[in-house]
Amino acid sequence: MRDLYSITSCLDNLQRPLRDLRISVTDRCNLRCAYCMPGELFGRDFVFLRHAELLSFEEIVRVARQCIALGVRKIRLSGGEPLLRHGVERLVEMLAGLHGNDGKSIELAMTSNGTLLAKKASALKDAGLMRLNISLDALDENTFRCITGGSVSPEAVLEGIAAAESVGLTPVKVNAVVRRGVNESEIMPLVRRFRHTGIIVRFIEYMDVGKSNGWRLDDVINAGEILALIDREYPLISIDTLTHEEGVAKRWAFQDGGGEIGVITSVTQAFCHTCSRLRLSTDGKLYTCLFAADGIDLRTLIRAQPGDDAALRQRIAATWRGRADRYSQIRHEVTEALSGRIEMSYIGG
Ligand code: SAM
Ligand code: SF4
Ligand code: SF4
Repeated sequence: MRDLYSITSCLDNLQRPLRDLRISVTDRCNLRCAYCMPGELFGRDFVFLRHAELLSFEEIVRVARQCIALGVRKIRLSGGEPLLRHGVERLVEMLAGLHGNDGKSIELAMTSNGTLLAKKASALKDAGLMRLNISLDALDENTFRCITGGSVSPEAVLEGIAAAESVGLTPVKVNAVVRRGVNESEIMPLVRRFRHTGIIVRFIEYMDVGKSNGWRLDDVINAGEILALIDREYPLISIDTLTHEEGVAKRWAFQDGGGEIGVITSVTQAFCHTCSRLRLSTDGKLYTCLFAADGIDLRTLIRAQPGDDAALRQRIAATWRGRADRYSQIRHEVTEALSGRIEMSYIGG
């Protein structure tokens, strides 16, 4: 007999189903973006997780399997920088072989800074990766180096994007976090660069994740400002109502047929009411919100009971069912209380 958790859709306290799983495969990164892993805090002395603390690929797949049985349809690998995890393409291959209860395959995606992609794109495609989001906050060499800590040129990311396209990991989406006084001057160059290419640039409102970036509301350029700026040069038309596609990005098309862009209104128009995302940290903790302070440890259970998938599934289901997170909707009320929240590089953005 199939157990209860494999046949019911798993709903949280606010009636939201579990649909997305974001897996952080490493807490390390080769960049030091000031808003995520500032160099002053993530320097030589910073203690990253030891190998034994990471979930192995087999352990990750075990968790993914149980999440899929509970309703997950989409898995995204993130980090840190996921391409730094040795052999990550083997994990992609293992996950790509999983199917939902309905027999359909799972949508498998990755978010990467793109700098190592030129070497890895082909192996990732062969392993079964379906979609790729690549982060690129600036095209200007100095601005890019200033944002990311200085070690890499934006050319490396552009090469990564080209490699992804050449192996058919399309449509590539480029994510740009916009911060006032830092890279708002890069909005139009990014738009111009990727119009008519099939690549979709999505501008993300800078969020108050973690506690190391010194976030201030004044630093956020809101989606309305971004859209107004673009619309002045290239008139836009909303396409959300045309597609009915569920997603966090609001989609806009260039009226002249030059393609589309997206804006992710994480700060100004919260999408908590439809948030169906669970996060698995590199060391095996479950987080039900990007702004959570604590995770639920699965690693101890996984290692103590290697054959007991039912117990694992029940722990995941209970975690989801107990969820009532809606931080972005109530941000202004709780900012002070959340000084202990975890970093995006650890939980996976
Ligand atoms: N290293 C990979 C990358 O940069 O794409 C994956 C991990 S990174 C944490 C995932 C995404 O989170 C990136 O697009 C990054 O720009 C975004 N991000 C990190 N901190 C953020 C913040 N405070 N506000 C908005 N987006 C943020
Ligand atoms: Fe690394 Fe991505 Fe964070 Fe930048 S945003 S420091 S690339 S994990
Ligand atoms: Fe989901 Fe939490 Fe973000 Fe709201 S604040 S959309 S609940 S991750």
